[in-house]
Amino acid sequence: MSASENIQVPAPAIRSKPLLLRHLPYFIGVAIVVALAARMQFDGYVHNILMQATTFSIAVFGLSVVLGLCGQINLAQAAFFGFGAYAVGIGTTDWHLSFWLCLVAGSVIALLAGAFLGASTLRLGGHYLAMVTISFQQIVTLVMINAIWLTHGPDGVSNIGRPALFQSSQSYLAFCVAALGIVGYLVWHLPDTRLGRAMRAVRDNELAAGVNGIDVFRTKVYAFAVCAALGGLAGGLFAGGFAYVSPDQFSFAESIVFLTMSLLGGVASPIGSAIGTGLLILIPEWLRFLKSVPGLYLAIYGLSVILIIRFMPDGIWGFVSNAFTRLRARAKAPPAVAALQLRPATTGGNIVLEVTGLSKHFGGLKAVDGVDIAVRRGGVHALIGPNGSGKTTTLNVLSGLYKATSGKIVLDGTDITNMAPHQRTAAGLGRTFQNIRLFRSMTALENVEIGAERPGNTMIGKGDDALTERAMEALTFVGLGSRANELISSFSYGHQRLIEIARALASNPTLLLLDEPAAGLNSTEKLELHELLKRIAAQGLTILIIDHDMTLVSEAAQHITVLNFGRRIADGESLAVLRHPDVVSAYLGSE
Ligand code: ADP
Ligand code: MG
Repeated sequence: MSASENIQVPAPAIRSKPLLLRHLPYFIGVAIVVALAARMQFDGYVHNILMQATTFSIAVFGLSVVLGLCGQINLAQAAFFGFGAYAVGIGTTDWHLSFWLCLVAGSVIALLAGAFLGASTLRLGGHYLAMVTISFQQIVTLVMINAIWLTHGPDGVSNIGRPALFQSSQSYLAFCVAALGIVGYLVWHLPDTRLGRAMRAVRDNELAAGVNGIDVFRTKVYAFAVCAALGGLAGGLFAGGFAYVSPDQFSFAESIVFLTMSLLGGVASPIGSAIGTGLLILIPEWLRFLKSVPGLYLAIYGLSVILIIRFMPDGIWGFVSNAFTRLRARAKAPPAVAALQLRPATTGGNIVLEVTGLSKHFGGLKAVDGVDIAVRRGGVHALIGPNGSGKTTTLNVLSGLYKATSGKIVLDGTDITNMAPHQRTAAGLGRTFQNIRLFRSMTALENVEIGAERPGNTMIGKGDDALTERAMEALTFVGLGSRANELISSFSYGHQRLIEIARALASNPTLLLLDEPAAGLNSTEKLELHELLKRIAAQGLTILIIDHDMTLVSEAAQHITVLNFGRRIADGESLAVLRHPDVVSAYLGSE
């Protein structure tokens, strides 16, 4: 952390062109492909393959959102696809509704079903989610087969109409390609929006996402709903393209095909989705000549999919783009920014954090037992105690990762005892973890942006540029501004700690909780950390720090609370507490 990096320099605003203008080439490209699709004469076979690849890709885009961005499994995408397909099928034939209305209705029905399924199950962990989506898929299939009055049963729905504007199969294909281009653009840019960043944070580390102000549950439900809606849209387009739908097209096996497509191409990006979809449709066609030997075709098909996934775990596109990211991180020099301002809110009184009678019991173990802590505004308050004395547990209860067994927590005049982690963060709590919890698939800058974005952060203006600027200021403050665009894995352990601190600082917290920030650092890094803490405290930010390093604690903290076996054994002004006989015996062993 060099001192020169923290000198105040005039801030050149980080400005960028409007998104749509920057991506004009993309839309010109899409327009050319659409024009080609409209003009070229394909034979029926090629046309069908293109139609299938286009509509399936949109459904697989959905999986790249829910699985790739947000890390949640959905084994019912074919069911959502079916919602859209049947809405257009039944709506245009039996009910004589307009194609457009049916297309929208199908997507909305899928969206609502996805949101409902997500809201009722996403509080459960991974395996449960998989099981529930499989069950949902099976139920939908059963309804499609048995609700004959509505779905025509196993016979399916035929003679499905198309919009008057795109009657010919050529023009309809061109329309679907245009839809693919637009949806692809939206999905491609989703990761750089607030919602997209939240999804990636949830995927990388749910706990850290929560304490950085993200509503984890709501983010997952949104991801699920977006995925389902894209499935519905794709299904509606599919029904118009093939004019016929039947239950076997939307079975569990199809959901697995969608999943394989997305894993094969690369689950993290719509480009991967399109590649995977194209390949999985084409490979069987390429292997058609093998069909004379029974079984051989399937074996080769399965083997090639397994080989690709084995040697490119991030999918084909993930493999390519990882290489790109590494190159880009080295090339891009981040702009200079102004010095970080920490301006904690000053609404409450002299006491920023008031904890009374706080307990956390794990079964019979009283990890924290009736602890009182009062943290004064604008100082460094240390929480110390031997290993296992309940320090981390106290912090986890404060930040809402554990629910208190009893007691009351008041932050800056607000009772936060029963709030969720992200609400406490919005109320002004920032924290770091004893075992570093960064978002590992993101760059240092993106990690810190998540912190800056916390609801209630009045330090940042509107828009992405202000966000980036605030994050750059925080990274520069901890001395890592020049490495903003590197991935987390390229930083040393000590630097990862600094990034975690920068992430918390960017959110401009009222109170900063640090859990053993010096753990695992070498002596130079410890000195640097010490100097950083001084600079943070100099700005008037209140810090509650857990540490083992007595030199650091005695020099940095004005006030110390000591825990032993979950109980508070001493509390008061630093030097007096460190001389307290109970404290000495707790640390050095009694007698
Ligand atoms: P410290 O941070 O002071 O070293 P901790 O707060 O991590 O101590 O742990 C205090 C006690 O609570 C320990 O005995 C630990 O084993 C126990 N503990 C912590 N978390 C849990 C948990 N999730 N479930 C059960 N016991 C826990
Ligand atoms: Mg601990």
